[in-house]
Amino acid sequence: PADLQRLIEAGIRDVPDFPEPGVVFKDITPLLADPASLKAVAEAMAAPFDGRVDAVVGLEARGFILAAPVALELGAGFVPVRKAGKLPAKTYRESYDLEYGTATVEMHVDAFAPGSRVLVVDDVLATGGTGRAAVELVHRAGGTVVGFSVLMELGFLKGRDRLTGVGVHALTEA
Ligand code: 5GP
Repeated sequence: PADLQRLIEAGIRDVPDFPEPGVVFKDITPLLADPASLKAVAEAMAAPFDGRVDAVVGLEARGFILAAPVALELGAGFVPVRKAGKLPAKTYRESYDLEYGTATVEMHVDAFAPGSRVLVVDDVLATGGTGRAAVELVHRAGGTVVGFSVLMELGFLKGRDRLTGVGVHALTEA
């Protein structure tokens, strides 16, 4: 809807040269701080998956903020995927390549029951490395990925291409 697009446009600002020179960072904190925008975005990220989700996996850190209200909206539970070394109990681990080096993410082995229908949520889909790793973690725990819901997709980074077989739902594209 047009008013949702207006709220998104008003609530995401470009920050040049963050976190390093040449990168334009999409800062979603103004959107999160606006009550109407936060509510509308959480509802819109959940809507396509209504009635078919048992657990919502949120990706550290901004993914957590959106995944919790999406889970409430869907009547589902919340499951964190975190950077290595943060989760206290037994975990599955997945590593993926960054421009320089690698990153590792983890999820508790008992985060949801095998056979659960899982929605993965993050704020921004960039290269798709984080999303791909999260999908692998869900599969290793015996879950079915029903989709990957993000607020914004950076289309020029082609993250979708790394997520073959996963239904990507983005509210807006840049
Ligand atoms: P990817 O693994 O898809 O390259 O990167 C996605 C991760 O990096 C997401 O967890 C996302 O939060 C973060 N990210 C990358 N670029 C941006 C950006 O411009 N804005 C925000 N808010 N997050 C970003």
